[in-house]
Amino acid sequence: MTITTAQILDGKALAHRLRKEIGTEVAELTQKHGRAPGLAVILVGDDPASHVYVRNKKIGCENVGFASFSYELPADTSQQHLLGLISELNRDPKVDGILVQLPVPAHINSETILEAIDPGKDVDGFHPYNIGRLTARKPALRSCTPYGCMKLLEETGLDLHGMESVIVGASNIVGRPMALELLLAGATVTVCHRFTKNLQAHIERADIVIAAAGKQGLIQGEWIKPGAVVIDVGIHRRADGTLTGDVAFESASKRAGWITPVPGGVGPMTITMLLANTVQAFKNHIGESDD
Ligand code: NAD
Repeated sequence: MTITTAQILDGKALAHRLRKEIGTEVAELTQKHGRAPGLAVILVGDDPASHVYVRNKKIGCENVGFASFSYELPADTSQQHLLGLISELNRDPKVDGILVQLPVPAHINSETILEAIDPGKDVDGFHPYNIGRLTARKPALRSCTPYGCMKLLEETGLDLHGMESVIVGASNIVGRPMALELLLAGATVTVCHRFTKNLQAHIERADIVIAAAGKQGLIQGEWIKPGAVVIDVGIHRRADGTLTGDVAFESASKRAGWITPVPGGVGPMTITMLLANTVQAFKNHIGESDD
């Protein structure tokens, strides 16, 4: 058996590079069209993790020169009120992207909310229209985390056609759109989930592992096929405050060919793809899209 020491897929560095390119493009677009791309971020309630995510998104927007509009609503905001705000933002010509930070409080139906966003402004890429476009091999606005994972995979320079890819997790926001992205790229796709029998056997034959189960250390390093690409989407906070993922990083990095760290892997790419989607939405709105 060949023992490899994995190359690190540095999401932080890639995100930095892409954000610089986005910033340059935004400056040109703003000068040409007399306004900057606008992103509206809506947060309902007091979830501390959501506050951190929203703050990071706001900083990301400002750093690339977007106009950022932020709505922090109390936890008892009615669904009706939230739908009213979305409808207003759907009509607002200064707003190219609308994002409702999940989770929303239990009395609000997240599906109803996500489906109320104009698909052309759905920069999270969660609307059934955008998922449908990806399913039909004509992606429009792509779900940010899977899109970021594809950019990381691109960094390996590997031809993904025919590669055995195993996704662990089948959520609407990560696992499922990830499967569609890999299928679009020509990979052979297996999706594992909580009912999968013998997860280890699936991982052992995978050339690409996408870990998105939300279970700390679920994927053991010894399961990784030598040379495989391992993308760890999971984020968990340890008791000492540090972050870790779904993959046992130390042992996995001795076998993988490429691996993403947590933090500094997928996380920075998710916000970067949100910024890229907002530029795309802006260009679609002003009729300057390549589509
Ligand atoms: P989720 O809870 O909605 O979905 C988890 C999925 O994993 C489900 O499909 C479930 O069936 C599957 N699963 C659970 N236990 C399993 C097991 N033992 N074996 C196989 N499959 C199993 O979670 P989510 O929203 O998709 O997020 C997953 C993880 O990714 C979380 O840790 C989350 O914090 C993280 N996340 C990170 C980013 C980022 O930007 N890095 C973005 C979104 C989510």
